[in-house]
Amino acid sequence: KRNVLIIGAGGVAQVVAHKAAQHNDRLGDLHIASRTVAKAEAIIESVHAKDAMKVPGVFQAHALDAMDTAAVVALIKATGCQIVINVGSPFVNMTVLDACIQTGVAYMDTAIHEDAGKICEAPPWYGNYEWKRREACKAAGVTAILGVGFDPGVVNAYARVAEGLMDSIESIDIVDINAGSHGKWFSTNFDPEINFREFTGTVYSWQNGAWQSNTMFEVGQTFDMPVVGAQKAYLTGHDEVHSLSARYPQADVRFWMGFGDHYINVFTVLKNLGLLSEQPVTTAEGLEVIPLKVVKAVLPDPASLAPDYTGKTCIGDFVKGTKDGKPVEVLIYNVADHKDAYTEVGAQGISYTAGVPPVAAALLIADGIWDVGTMANVEDMDPAPFINLLNDIGLPTRIKEAAGDRLLEF
Ligand code: NDP
Repeated sequence: KRNVLIIGAGGVAQVVAHKAAQHNDRLGDLHIASRTVAKAEAIIESVHAKDAMKVPGVFQAHALDAMDTAAVVALIKATGCQIVINVGSPFVNMTVLDACIQTGVAYMDTAIHEDAGKICEAPPWYGNYEWKRREACKAAGVTAILGVGFDPGVVNAYARVAEGLMDSIESIDIVDINAGSHGKWFSTNFDPEINFREFTGTVYSWQNGAWQSNTMFEVGQTFDMPVVGAQKAYLTGHDEVHSLSARYPQADVRFWMGFGDHYINVFTVLKNLGLLSEQPVTTAEGLEVIPLKVVKAVLPDPASLAPDYTGKTCIGDFVKGTKDGKPVEVLIYNVADHKDAYTEVGAQGISYTAGVPPVAAALLIADGIWDVGTMANVEDMDPAPFINLLNDIGLPTRIKEAAGDRLLEF
């Protein structure tokens, strides 16, 4: 038993906490730390309300400023945790990783590090911060698994599975469709500041062996997805395009996210009016405001969406390549249900798909299977035990190929 420290107390942390509690017989003591300790306490309360702890054990909340490496080091030492699941905001990633390197404990996160001062990171995303610490991880024997949510995360493992099915990979198209409905006139599914930031910058993809630039909503395509049907998705920049293009430089690697026309209309109006700007403006009354902060203040709190969310998500990889000289194509995917997620762990489906994988990774590290003692992206790891475990703990993987559509098991 390694004991686990969860950092952050948002939507994804809610899922991580419930899933870790369901497996505390294997993980040991659980701790959750966030800037606002009341949020961490509320998550523990919801775990107890669902009687989610598999065996009686420790689950403790702590106040922590995760931007302060020394404070993270002190908490790791005080709790005796050997695995840190960082699901705080992406601004804290490097301070938390540094603390894990200093204390020699395992680290994982679900998104690339972002500098709070920048609008959006540009490629090479992992090269900007994370991979610079690879040698330090190796020297300290620290297992650091980067981006182990769903996308990035499980979709990287899907690409690795496809690698084993083909002689060469020609293209990887990751498609993320949320066909759910939250019932509000307009809302973002995550913190609007983070959500809009993702779509205001340049859209990068890896095609013809080089980075290509587009703008958001410039390139769209309809994908025929299982369960949720034909869905329009748009070329979007995403962390995993970088790590996957480093492993498969000969392949085109693209990320597509589904959006309805309504979302695009609202986004376009807000953006063109200047309401997504982080630059302060002064009103006629002399009041200085940041437009994006005002928009955030009037939009629904994303955390409030979960109870009424219905419908499904479908996220997967369309991979094309060749096998024995012939063209082959597979779709490897998962379908998750918003209502089922809420019933089980009190969160919507998108948080669920992001929060279950790091707990699977923690279990694999605790069992020694993924405890590689160095820094790795998910596609560097053996996907078989990960996918088998996800099948068992709530995120089953299916594969659609010429022969048909089946559960993927190893
Ligand atoms: P939330 O915004 O809901 O939660 C972030 C949490 O981090 C909050 O509890 C916040 O505290 C805490 N936090 C922020 N700064 C600090 C700090 N300095 N010290 C301690 N705690 C801090 O985010 P989500 O739960 O939606 O997402 C969490 C992470 O997961 C993000 O990095 C996101 O990008 C990633 N993600 C990954 C996905 C994937 O599939 N790979 C999908 C979805 C999300 P406070 O409450 O006080 O603000």
